[in-house]
Amino acid sequence: MKRRAGSFNGNGSGKRILVAGGAGFIGSHLCDRLLESGHKVICVDNLLTGNEQNIRPLVNHPHFRFLKQDVCELGPVDEPLDQVYNLACAASPSKYQADPVHTMMTCIRGTSNLLALAENKKAAFVQASTSEVYGDPTEHPQRESYLGNVNCTGPRACYDEGKRAAETLCFDMRRLGRVDARVARIFNTYGPRMQPDDGRIVSNLIVQALTGEPLTIYGSGEQTRSFCHVADLIRGLTALMNVLSAPSGPVNLGNPGEFTINELAQMVLELVITDSTIKHMPLPIDDPRRRRPDITLARRLLNWQPQKPLKEGLAETVDWFAAFLHRSDTPRSALPRRRADQKLIGPPQRLSAGA
Ligand code: NAD
Ligand code: UDP
Repeated sequence: MKRRAGSFNGNGSGKRILVAGGAGFIGSHLCDRLLESGHKVICVDNLLTGNEQNIRPLVNHPHFRFLKQDVCELGPVDEPLDQVYNLACAASPSKYQADPVHTMMTCIRGTSNLLALAENKKAAFVQASTSEVYGDPTEHPQRESYLGNVNCTGPRACYDEGKRAAETLCFDMRRLGRVDARVARIFNTYGPRMQPDDGRIVSNLIVQALTGEPLTIYGSGEQTRSFCHVADLIRGLTALMNVLSAPSGPVNLGNPGEFTINELAQMVLELVITDSTIKHMPLPIDDPRRRRPDITLARRLLNWQPQKPLKEGLAETVDWFAAFLHRSDTPRSALPRRRADQKLIGPPQRLSAGA
């Protein structure tokens, strides 16, 4: 499990890092962060749910390379590598259920291919796992020691069980001394660059409010989630990769603030001037009723905790989506209506409350 000490820029600080899923929402922020820190980044992505726009500002960066590849059929990588992050996998329920067999294969074959690459290059490895490994949890909040309550035959299983199997691969490779593998169990993350049609709750509610469409709430809206801003998550992922003594098990990364979906919808309605109403729709099968991370381990091992309050992060994300929708070819009739004396976003005093 020796780690390569190579440097490409002559000053000893830059590492060669492969980010699988680097054109996605979280992956593109990770690529940004790694380049800003002076590293060289190879982004591997098949653009299934990612978007070239996310990495467009990076393509001319001298230390960035994009390989359009499916991790299930990973080709050779010529350069030495110091670190591999595996974020390749659709994360939104509607997207990962669209081709469930491919999702499962991405988790198993894709992770296996990337672990083999990391072994070959003697690179450290961070796996983006998920709070979905806890399923519909019967323990609350969720600690890493909780073994979960997952339906292995339901429509979410391709993702939940795929991610659980990927964790198994990581810990077996680690126990065998073949890869310095680390596993982050990521809880719901939000922020700029979520895809507007992704189907996830934060992007759905914001886009619906901005376009005057009804805000869709599945079930009663009393189910809970915990929302972590993407900048906080990136700090956590890089801390996990770089902590000297690798944690022996998975580490939860998420914001322990817990909100019902109804509360989240109200926050969005406070931030956007809109005529949108609430529309209730059926709750999807196996939708977890509540979710909140216990981050004691991340605090202790990584000295990490989220910093951005939800209201502040949501306001920033609303701004980003508003700018995105105005830039894109969304019909003008569907854009938020503004009077000259109205601000699109709610008054600043609403943004200062902690989450
Ligand atoms: P995303 O869908 O925006 O990004 C995933 C990226 O992986 C996309 O760019 C997609 O094109 C790429 N991809 C998918 N299958 C691939 C394959 N077979 N080969 C190559 N590339 C492939 O999702 P995200 O929110 O950025 O999530 C990134 C990772 O974090 C995922 O592994 C996800 O499971 C995990 N995660 C995310 C959240 C969250 O709330 N966003 C929560 C828990 C875990
Ligand atoms: N949800 C909702 N309306 C939407 C999208 C999602 O009420 O338009 C609910 C969904 O049923 C779940 C929660 O919001 O209870 C979070 O959904 P998301 O797809 O963002 O992530 P999950 O945590 O379920 O993977």
